[in-house]
Amino acid sequence: MEFIVRNAVLQLIKGDITDVEADAIVNAANSTLLGGGGVDGAIHRKGGPKILEECKRIRATEWPDGLPTGNAVITSGGNLKAKYVIHTVGPVWMGGFHVEAELLKRAYKNSLKLAVSKGLRTIAFPSISTGAYRYPVEEASRIAIGVVKDFLENTDKLEKVTFVLFSNRDFNVYLQAVEDLLK
Ligand code: ADP
Repeated sequence: MEFIVRNAVLQLIKGDITDVEADAIVNAANSTLLGGGGVDGAIHRKGGPKILEECKRIRATEWPDGLPTGNAVITSGGNLKAKYVIHTVGPVWMGGFHVEAELLKRAYKNSLKLAVSKGLRTIAFPSISTGAYRYPVEEASRIAIGVVKDFLENTDKLEKVTFVLFSNRDFNVYLQAVEDLLK
């Protein structure tokens, strides 16, 4: 499904983000940047060792104690179709009383800003924080779509932002968020 926001396409697809051709795909990483389960594991498995090497270098130089929640960094895409991987850390859901919403917004916004700062024009996101980090997908989808909508309304530097949802249920929840927020 495709929607237009100003000059850009906001796209929702159901699928595996490691198959997506985009200037950058976003990894729902953890602060170690050294890999994990879920989408993180899938990206490193298919992307190969180069991505992990670059993550280790980032840890050794910029972020020796780990990447703080809400921040984003970029590596090459290794063997993936995507040219780059943007690694961001979403919040762990703690019941909604611990600034999770603000941190999730930051994760999306910093990923988008980083893409623009590198001159990238197409970017694909998974549903950050709604797997192992247990953020309720109804709330997370509204935050995700809201941030992207605001961002696209204020830039002409991005051509396409895609959300890659892993299940039919998540796809339908994100579609409802788009229908509610873009009308
Ligand atoms: P987090 O720790 O941020 O919650 P997870 O990777 O556990 O990250 O889950 C985030 C979302 O990514 C979940 O909806 C999960 O189903 C989904 N996911 C897992 N693997 C993939 C994949 N290969 N492509 C797209 N989405 C994926």
